[in-house]
Amino acid sequence: MADDLHHAISARLTGADQRYTSGRRSLVDALVDADRPLTAAEILVAGGLAQSSAYRNLSVLETCGVVHRVAGTDEFARFELAEDLTDHHHHHLICTNCGLVTDFTVSDRLERSLEAAMERVAETTGFRPDHHRLDLLGRCADCGS
Ligand SMILES: [Zn+2]
Ligand SMILES: [Zn+2]
Repeated sequence: MADDLHHAISARLTGADQRYTSGRRSLVDALVDADRPLTAAEILVAGGLAQSSAYRNLSVLETCGVVHRVAGTDEFARFELAEDLTDHHHHHLICTNCGLVTDFTVSDRLERSLEAAMERVAETTGFRPDHHRLDLLGRCADCGS
């Protein structure tokens, strides 16, 4: 799985005239190991990376569609690997107090209901949905109570 992933990322970068350098691979590895979207600062710490080139590399990965920016509630951008690369469709729990974003999945049955709802939207509005996001906003376990 990990080899397939790196191969797919390498191909995507090559298609954009970019190379899959060791620095970029370290960023990807940090995201692979994480179980939630990470801020740029968290990626640097997790990957043991120096700041100088890491931000530029992260931006290249984002431009090439390897990494996606996750919408949050605070000022920190968070990043995760693109869903079409990881094949892990999921949703996000977003803490409106501390900004923490965690992944969660819903049942296949609910996913099918969402797909059906999207088809109805297309019929009634002419808007053609490609995919969906489902964010839950609230308070994380640490910020709750
Ligand atoms: Zn929180
Ligand atoms: Zn879904």
